[in-house]
Amino acid sequence: MHADREVDLLIAGAGPAGMTAALVASLEGLDVLLCEKSDQVGGTGSTSAGTLWIPGNHQSQAAGFADSAEQADAYLTALIGQATNRETRDAYLQTGPAAIDYLCARTDVQFIPCGPHPDYRSNMPGAAIAGRAIVPEPFDARPLGDEFRRVRPPISEFMVFGGMMVGKADIAPLIGRFRSIANFIHSARLFVRYLADRLKYQRGTRLTMGNALVGRLFYSLRRRGVPILFDASIVDVMGDRHGVVGARVNVGGKEIQIRARKGVVLATGGYAHNKRFREAFMPQPIPAHSMSYEGNCGDGVDIGQRLGATIAPEHGSSGLWTPVSITMRPDGSNGLFPHLVLDRAKPGLIAINSAGRRFVNEADSYHDFVLAMFESHKTAPTIPAYLICDSVFIEKYGLGVVYPGHSNVAKFVDSNYLVSGHTLDELAVKIAVDPAQLHRTVARYNGFAETGVDVDFGKGEAELNRFNGDATHRPNPCIGPLAAAPFYAVAVWPADIAVSTGLSTDRDARVLSPDGKPIPGLYACGNDMASVMAGSYPGPGTTLGPAIVFAYRAAMHARRARQ
Ligand SMILES: Cc1cc2nc3c(=O)[nH]c(=O)nc-3n(C[C@H](O)[C@H](O)[C@H](O)COP(=O)(O)OP(=O)(O)OC[C@H]3O[C@@H](n4cnc5c(N)ncnc54)[C@H](O)[C@@H]3O)c2cc1C
Repeated sequence: MHADREVDLLIAGAGPAGMTAALVASLEGLDVLLCEKSDQVGGTGSTSAGTLWIPGNHQSQAAGFADSAEQADAYLTALIGQATNRETRDAYLQTGPAAIDYLCARTDVQFIPCGPHPDYRSNMPGAAIAGRAIVPEPFDARPLGDEFRRVRPPISEFMVFGGMMVGKADIAPLIGRFRSIANFIHSARLFVRYLADRLKYQRGTRLTMGNALVGRLFYSLRRRGVPILFDASIVDVMGDRHGVVGARVNVGGKEIQIRARKGVVLATGGYAHNKRFREAFMPQPIPAHSMSYEGNCGDGVDIGQRLGATIAPEHGSSGLWTPVSITMRPDGSNGLFPHLVLDRAKPGLIAINSAGRRFVNEADSYHDFVLAMFESHKTAPTIPAYLICDSVFIEKYGLGVVYPGHSNVAKFVDSNYLVSGHTLDELAVKIAVDPAQLHRTVARYNGFAETGVDVDFGKGEAELNRFNGDATHRPNPCIGPLAAAPFYAVAVWPADIAVSTGLSTDRDARVLSPDGKPIPGLYACGNDMASVMAGSYPGPGTTLGPAIVFAYRAAMHARRARQ
């Protein structure tokens, strides 16, 4: 076989999964090559919140949050059944804490516990309220120097002043910067650092969330001298279902053949921007919006499928969803804002369909919210749905990209991001909903605000609901009246933040052929791998947790594999 280059392990895709596989394989002594389609690392990971769901992780245990693989397994059993993905699930739960400890001990990839962060079906057996989620430590990207430009930035909606990242912990101090000295000092420090950054860099160098994760992975790779080929897209693997021995890679328009003695890892981020796969895997009507990185075109899944690999899950949800509103960016383009945790669970907001009726517990997880949109859409158009609130709510909690206390809400009405009405009738007419029905819906909901009990959807009953609500609001932290004009509505659509359908693998991330046997030399991780959660969304970090753990397992397996 002709080869332009020869390595031990070839990894395609420099997102969290691919970078982890490359880093671990290199630490284990393999000669590694990481190929990245674009000119930057990070993929969707760079725009993510960066949370990892790692049951029993030692970082949380050290902080006093007890958890175990057994409890998490009971939870997954309640969610997806006892037998589903038994082998990969056991491997995931058993290896998670060790994989994280390995990275913390040997690289610059460092994690901190989230503490309280409820699972998304927090009322199910085995669900945790705290201790399963960890996040990367914020990263100072200045040591990357010029290489900082290689780290894909987060979406502009997650930055302020055109380039300053704001982590979850920064939001309250920034909004309340004149309310306490501590808040003021925190905000002033962020701002001064940002100003200094902008003298030298295109954006702030204090990275948080998913950007900190990819920044830390990239920095660790650079420090180890792991080679990364940019503008290098995997086109196909060499070999067949009896063994993969390398790959064809398009580097800057020229195709080269790379022999990989121990195998090829597919980590190209999943199928989100592949029309054919969207049509084949996603629910009808196929969601028009995706928050996945636009370069994720299903290349890995396509390569696996051509070899005859098994695709899964066949049942359950093929995507992991969030409701998004459509923003207008300063340059005139549109962006997507994910309504993850900041507004839906706060008291004084309802979600309605085109019939003017509530269809969901608004405080449920973003994934469950969208599943309810799909269900409601079968009987009344619910794509888009509308989040409705009053002027007290928007002032106190914000709505989508309108942050709390914004001095110019009218600007968002003028740009058509928000719809407003001096009365509920006016609002209803503007969003083409029957005014009488909207009145009935709001009146009924305002009654729940008084009693604190949502008879229709149980809003505020689950720990997750209350965690994202307003603890100071009584009697129910998630239910408040809509009463003070003007009233506002924002339209929300379903969008995938990740996909769960992908290449079926064994416990070491080896891609499986239909006879259930692994294809020697072919691994898949991240969103190229069928989700170990079988289409469900158990808690914060459902995709990045498995992405890191199975990348680690793939690298460890490759170390032991054939020459
Ligand atoms: C707003 C938002 C918040 C999120 N928050 C979280 C969270 O907190 N926790 C969580 O678990 N998940 C979260 N996610 C989802 C998470 O970001 C993704 O599931 C994760 O990034 C997938 O990792 P990956 O490495 O598989 O793919 P990606 O991160 O998308 O990386 C894939 C890489 O492969 C490259 N590539 C594509 N095709 C090729 C090719 N042919 N050859 C070579 N390279 C190729 C791409 O350019 C890209 O760099 C969030 C997503 C969004 C949008």
